[in-house]
Amino acid sequence: MALAMDEFRRLLADRGYRVTAQRLAIYELLQENARRSYHPSAEELYQQARERFPMISPATVYNTLELLVELGLASQLGFPGDVQRYDGNPHAHANVQCVDCKAIFDVDAEALEDIGQRVAERSDFVILGQRFEFYGICPQCQARRAREETQARPQAGDAGAATGSAAG
Ligand SMILES: [Zn+2]
Repeated sequence: MALAMDEFRRLLADRGYRVTAQRLAIYELLQENARRSYHPSAEELYQQARERFPMISPATVYNTLELLVELGLASQLGFPGDVQRYDGNPHAHANVQCVDCKAIFDVDAEALEDIGQRVAERSDFVILGQRFEFYGICPQCQARRAREETQARPQAGDAGAATGSAAG
């Protein structure tokens, strides 16, 4: 579950991290992205953060993202062939990425919570985060591929009819 901003402030203070306006803003931005099911790269977050803090440095953004991951408030997505992306939704859910258009979707699955608990029990770890990553072809790209296949054999109907009459 995402933390409210005052909880986030308290967590930073409790762990001995300075509470800065930039850290707060980056966490808030990440949550805004998560609410739209968007998974920004560090570069994209940096560009977003610059709108509020024109003088912010890329290093501040990267370091804050690392801190959020360490605190279990964000996770890194490691899809092959894509830049590293960040997910501000720490709730157990699956991410599925389209290999064609690279769109990433959030999929809730209750069973994932159970898997997390079982992993914690069997490893005696305090689990801070988890990643469930799937890849495939999204509905839009499935439809596009189907259209392209249809267009690739334009006279299929005629050819079939001709073959049929020749065979008959
Ligand atoms: Zn797609």
